[in-house]
Amino acid sequence: MEETFDLIVVGGGASGFMSAITAAEERTSSIVILEETAKTLEKVRISGGGRCNVTNACLEIRELTTNYPRGEKALLGAFSRFSTGDAINWFKERGLELKVEEDGRIFPKSNSSKEVIRCLQKSSIALGVQCLKGVKVKTIKKLSDKTFQLECQHKKFFFAKRVLIATGGSPSGKRIAHNLGHQLINAVPSLFTFKLNAKWLTSCSGISVDRVKLRLISNDKQFEQFGRVLITHWGLSGPAVLKLSSFAARDLSLDKYKSSLCINWIDEDYNEANKILESYRSKYSSDSIKKCYPFKQLPRRLWVAFLENLGIDANSKWSNFSNLKKNLLCKYLTKDNQLIIGKGPFGEEFVTAGGINLKEIDLKSMESLVCKGLYFAGEVLNIDGVTGGFNFQHCWTSGWIAGRAIASSKKEFINSKIKE
Ligand SMILES: Cc1cc2nc3c(=O)[nH]c(=O)nc-3n(C[C@H](O)[C@H](O)[C@H](O)COP(=O)(O)OP(=O)(O)OC[C@H]3O[C@@H](n4cnc5c(N)ncnc54)[C@H](O)[C@@H]3O)c2cc1C
Repeated sequence: MEETFDLIVVGGGASGFMSAITAAEERTSSIVILEETAKTLEKVRISGGGRCNVTNACLEIRELTTNYPRGEKALLGAFSRFSTGDAINWFKERGLELKVEEDGRIFPKSNSSKEVIRCLQKSSIALGVQCLKGVKVKTIKKLSDKTFQLECQHKKFFFAKRVLIATGGSPSGKRIAHNLGHQLINAVPSLFTFKLNAKWLTSCSGISVDRVKLRLISNDKQFEQFGRVLITHWGLSGPAVLKLSSFAARDLSLDKYKSSLCINWIDEDYNEANKILESYRSKYSSDSIKKCYPFKQLPRRLWVAFLENLGIDANSKWSNFSNLKKNLLCKYLTKDNQLIIGKGPFGEEFVTAGGINLKEIDLKSMESLVCKGLYFAGEVLNIDGVTGGFNFQHCWTSGWIAGRAIASSKKEFINSKIKE
C-alpha cells in the first residue's frame, strides 16, 4: 500500500518551502515537496542579482499593500497576520542575518542568495520535510474527501490528505488547478523593460538618471511613475520603468506593447526649465554649452546626446544659443515623447501577473473554496508586486498562512476522530 502523506507541496520555490516548514513546525507529520527540476529554490538563487532581496522595510501594512498592482485589497488581511516585520524575525530566528539598504530593500548581510537557500533547506531538513527533485506533477485527482492522487511522469503516483500548489508562474500548476475546478486569470508578464526606437538615446546605454517623471498612455489609460531610470541597449529599464510596467501590465499587453511614453528628464516644468536655461545663457555666455550646464542629474554624455540629437553644436558657446534651440531643448528635457515599440528581451520579465482567481480562495487559510484540502501559495495566485522584495514577501506571507492552516486543519481532524 502506497504511503499517504499529510501534505504534498507541489513546487520547491520560496512559497513551497515556507508552507512546508510552517506546517512541519506545527507538527504536520509527513510532508514532501515535489520539485520538477533538479534544483530547488532556483529563483531565490538568481534573485536580486544573486543577492536576493528577501523583503522590504516597509512596515506599515496599508502602505505595503500599495506595492501590489494585483492583490492590494486581498493582502490587507494577510499582512495583518504575517507581514514584513514577521518575515524579518522569521529569518533572524533561523540564523539568517539581514541588512536594510537605504531605499528600504532587505538583503542577507552576506549579500548572497545562497544564505537564504541554506536557511530554508536547513530548516526543512531539521523538521523532517522530504524533498524529491526531478518529479514533475502532471495531474491531480481528488479520490475522496481525504485523499488526493498525484500523477507524475513515468506513471509514478503519490497520495496525500492535503495538497498545496506552489508552482509559481509555470503553466503546469495552473493547468492542474484548472482541472480541479479553478478559474484562471490569464497570465501576462510583469516587471519588464521598454524597447524604444531612439538610437540617440540607446547610444547612452549604461547611464542612469534619478528623479525622472514618466507618463505612460496605454489602452486609453494614464499611468505615472517617478524615480530612477536606466538607459539600456534597447530602451529603458530601472526601478521607475519596472514599476510602470507592473501597474500597466494588462493594458500594455492589450496594446501589444506599443504605447506612448512621455519622459520628464529633469523634474522641472517647461517654464522653469526655460528660465534656468535663460539664466545660464546670460551668466555663462562665454562658456561652452557642453561643459557648463544646469541639470547636473544628467551625466555629460547624455546632455551631449540631447544637444546633438537636436542639431545643437555641443561645443558652441551659450551666447550662440538661440531662443529656438532653447525652446526645443526645453521641450525635449521636460516632455520627451517616445514610442514604446515592445518589451525588453523575452524571458527577462521577473514575474507573471494573473493566475488563480482570488475569489475562489479563502484568504484566511489559502484553501481553495472549490476543492477542499487544496491550498495555494506564491506567484501561482493572481497577486504580484513591484520590485523591492515585495514578491518574496507575498511568498512568505501566503506560505506561512497556508502552512498554519494546514496544520490546524490536521489538529481539528485528530480532535474529531478522538470524539468519535
Ligand atoms: C531574475 C529574477 C529576479 C528576481 N528577484 C527578486 C527579488 O530580489 N525579490 C523579490 O521579492 N522577487 C524577486 N523575483 C520574483 C520572485 O523570484 C518570485 O516572485 C518568486 O520566486 C515566486 O516564488 P514561488 O515559490 O511562488 O514560485 P517559484 O520560485 O517559481 O517556484 C515554483 C517551483 O515549482 C516548480 N514547478 C512548477 N511546476 C511544477 C510541477 N508541475 N511539478 C513539480 N514542480 C513544479 C518549479 O520548477 C519551481 O521550482 C525575481 C524573479 C526573477 C525571475
